[in-house]
Amino acid sequence: MTVGLIPGSFDPFHNGHLEIVERASQIFDEVVVAAIRNPQKSQPLFDLEERREMIADSLVHVPNVRIVSISTLLVNVARDVNATAIVRGLRAVSDFESEMQMAQMNRSLSGVETLFLPSSSDHSFLASRLLREVARYGGDVTSFVPPPVAKRLAEKYPEGIS
Ligand code: ADP
Repeated sequence: MTVGLIPGSFDPFHNGHLEIVERASQIFDEVVVAAIRNPQKSQPLFDLEERREMIADSLVHVPNVRIVSISTLLVNVARDVNATAIVRGLRAVSDFESEMQMAQMNRSLSGVETLFLPSSSDHSFLASRLLREVARYGGDVTSFVPPPVAKRLAEKYPEGIS
């Protein structure tokens, strides 16, 4: 059985992430989405459990997906779920340098391969950081995120912050 592991901060999960998960679910028998606590991102908007719930609610239509939240090294999770490959979405050349370095490190640590899926042009401008800013100042993000995420963002920022 092939397993694709899709890690990310997903703070919050958006339509670019959704597209990568849907495409990976066509390639692998099972897809594991791992919401990660990233120590370099100090103050997350949503805690890990909230992120896990939002991702699960956004992926009810994908039958072969499992969601986990983790605070450990990615290669440990890759081993635990018996991952065939780590899957990462690439938006632009700017993503490439750090993604390449991470892929090489993960392969050196554990032998696990990384598969890159290019984002579609419809979603290549989406970034969680940008969506947090737009939502915070009351902008409409409903066309960029799945409905369960839009709902949580609206609860977080009922009138936006101005
Ligand atoms: P990280 O904190 O690891 O950068 P993110 O939550 O920002 O995680 O993203 C998780 C994964 O989704 C990464 O592989 C990232 O490149 C990919 N990704 C982010 N935004 C998009 C997008 N708009 N289209 C496709 N892939 C994306």
